[in-house]
Amino acid sequence: MTPRSYQVAVLPHELVIPDAFRPSPKVEGIAEARLDVDLAAVRANFAEMRRRFTGRSVTAVVKSDAYGLGLEPVVASLLAAGCDTFWVDDLDEALRVRALAPAATVYTLLGLAGREPIAFRRAEVIPVLVSLAEMRAVAAFAAAAGIAVPVAIQIDTGLGRLGLTGEELSDRAMLDPLWRHLDVKAWVSHLAAFDQPADARNDEQHHRLTQWLAGLPEAPVSLASSSGVYWPSPWHFDIARVGSALYGVQTSRVWQDGLVPCYRLSGRILRIADYAAGRRLGYAGTELTRASRIATVAIGYANGLPQRFGQCLHARIGDMLVETVGGIAMNLTMVDVTDMDPRDLEGHPEVVFLDAGLPLEPLAQACDCAPNTLLTAIGAGTRKVYNE
Ligand SMILES: *Cc1c(COP(=O)(O)O)cnc(C)c1O
Repeated sequence: MTPRSYQVAVLPHELVIPDAFRPSPKVEGIAEARLDVDLAAVRANFAEMRRRFTGRSVTAVVKSDAYGLGLEPVVASLLAAGCDTFWVDDLDEALRVRALAPAATVYTLLGLAGREPIAFRRAEVIPVLVSLAEMRAVAAFAAAAGIAVPVAIQIDTGLGRLGLTGEELSDRAMLDPLWRHLDVKAWVSHLAAFDQPADARNDEQHHRLTQWLAGLPEAPVSLASSSGVYWPSPWHFDIARVGSALYGVQTSRVWQDGLVPCYRLSGRILRIADYAAGRRLGYAGTELTRASRIATVAIGYANGLPQRFGQCLHARIGDMLVETVGGIAMNLTMVDVTDMDPRDLEGHPEVVFLDAGLPLEPLAQACDCAPNTLLTAIGAGTRKVYNE
């Protein structure tokens, strides 16, 4: 069922997944939910972003443990595909990237996040400074050390949240003494309406960014996240910070072509039983309207599978779509297999809940949340297996 139509990128480097992240033989056959992560799909999506982006470089956002998919295998795979720049949350994640990628450029999107500037220097990690206070702290460290410290600087062009405000940026008398201590590697800003290309707020942010950068130290500019790569080139600037698209997750109300979901969430059947019409099943007490054969699957909301799944979506066994029955419990879910050929149920087959054929987006829509809300929860709650 998983579409395999994408081209796997040729690897310029050897792909090395740390042994700690390979499935050990003894876990095979354990009846628990699993999340297969298709690293070839991640690389294919990276190549697709490179084809579309007109700026200088496509870089990878692997924050929050690569959106729950596992930072180390994703970074190892992207390195093999030629990616040389990674954005993480904080210094702890940065050190994990550094351990795999001694030569990569690593940025922390949460700035210093309470850590000392010297810790970033030692690890050669570049903080994306999020406030004037952070700029001053790094400049003071740099002045004392007699060096200029590499930094990126976030600019708040409209989202709020993080970065220098327009007012702060216009106070040149205050900023100018800082520049000789700061080696600005990138200017960073993020769009509030990245999911809605036609929203007027985007134009306002674009306008502010170009206005405000005039007269500031020259450095590459990074505005586009995944969705921005699909917008016309005036939105691209120099560096694209791409997360969701690498994992095949849609982030825009306008469909983004060419992305392959890299995830596959499945569980194994633990037991099959026949019930008479009228029986009520599960915590939800679903009443059977016909005599039914019901399979119980080892998967549930502890694996990040939202309870709404049962109300609006199907799972799949082989090529057959099956309905859930009785609600989704912590780690058990029942599915109706009455219409299936019994031979297709031999050997405790796996039941697929999400993959390229059953993508995250409709489920996220039903749950009224962003697909990444589900992906990070599923990744954190489920044993992951990597397909190279
Ligand atoms: C998470 C994040 C990104 C990546 O966004 P995607 O839509 O997942 O590509 C880019 N920039 C910043 C500042 C982010 O926090």
